[in-house]
Amino acid sequence: MDLWLPGPTSVPEGVRDTLSNEVVGHRTPEFSSAVESVTKKAKTILETDNDLFFLTSSGTGAMQAAVSNFFSSGDLILVCSLGAFGERFARILKEYELDVAKYSVQWGEALSPARLDRILEESPFVEAVFVTHNETSTGVTNDLEAIGRICKKHGKFLVVDSISGAGALPVKVDKWGVDVLVTGVQKGWMTPPGLSIITVSERAWSRYEQSRISEFYFDLGKAKDKYRDARQTPWTPAVSILLALDRATDKMLEEGMGEVFARHRRVAGVMRQGLRQLGFRLVADEAHASDVVTAVFVPEGMDAEEIRSGLREEYDIRIAGGKGKFAGKALRIGHMGDVDIASANRFLSCMDTVMKKVN
Ligand SMILES: *Cc1c(COP(=O)(O)O)cnc(C)c1O
Repeated sequence: MDLWLPGPTSVPEGVRDTLSNEVVGHRTPEFSSAVESVTKKAKTILETDNDLFFLTSSGTGAMQAAVSNFFSSGDLILVCSLGAFGERFARILKEYELDVAKYSVQWGEALSPARLDRILEESPFVEAVFVTHNETSTGVTNDLEAIGRICKKHGKFLVVDSISGAGALPVKVDKWGVDVLVTGVQKGWMTPPGLSIITVSERAWSRYEQSRISEFYFDLGKAKDKYRDARQTPWTPAVSILLALDRATDKMLEEGMGEVFARHRRVAGVMRQGLRQLGFRLVADEAHASDVVTAVFVPEGMDAEEIRSGLREEYDIRIAGGKGKFAGKALRIGHMGDVDIASANRFLSCMDTVMKKVN
């Protein structure tokens, strides 16, 4: 089977092999040393000295933790929304009775840092800005560095969903001034689903002290204490997934993050050009097209589901359909993690054959 999904993504052999090992106890020195090692490597990958924790949840659990640990009901939050996952952050915030103001752009577009600057200029009471780094529903990547600069200028607390970006796209948490960043291991990190990652800045800890939302399972204070005292997690984590992530992060760092990012850029270039040649139109505006997921509109007269089932039946290849308002209209091809030019070309040739059959 060949996964070209925007998560979960293909897990390379060396990482998959770790899953056949005996399960390890989560209160053992052996596991503590793995937690410490993978924490350090994830910090290196995200370029941060902030605290970093592994939560046993999908990415959405970390999004929820990013809300429930640092805010109180009634706080005014600016959600910058590019698509379905920006909307998800808004829904979580509303669930906790925070006040949500929205800066939404058309699906397929990126945020304008200049526009964000003006909005913040006019909104002195905004407590925090929530941004999707890489919007997986539209295949758009925001200029996170510029957004970080604007938030810094206005002294705003910045929360970033980089669930599909981190590990495959450059992210400099400290340099770009990201207070809280969340990601999921089943996307760019080449690991099976089961863990999410969250980073917490100094400033975030002072907000944590003031938060009036009660939290138990995702209480990051408990995570901090347990890591400090024992290099462990407060509850039984997905131990086997953490050990797989330990191996996957080794692979990433052995390749070198500069090369990991460059490889994603090259593969994305091949994908976009190939898909265009096959008659697809990109959802994303060209200047902000994502290097980890490409969303395309299906050519006139063709059926998205037929293309998906053709790929599945002929080649055992899985791609995703459109999400939210693009359901039935678009296709999404994930090219994050364990991807290269040769496999992208193979994918495109299978797509070519399927298109000819469907047509
Ligand atoms: C996949 C994804 C999510 C949701 O992650 P789950 O692990 O499915 O909960 C949220 N945001 C973005 C940008 C994503 O790509």
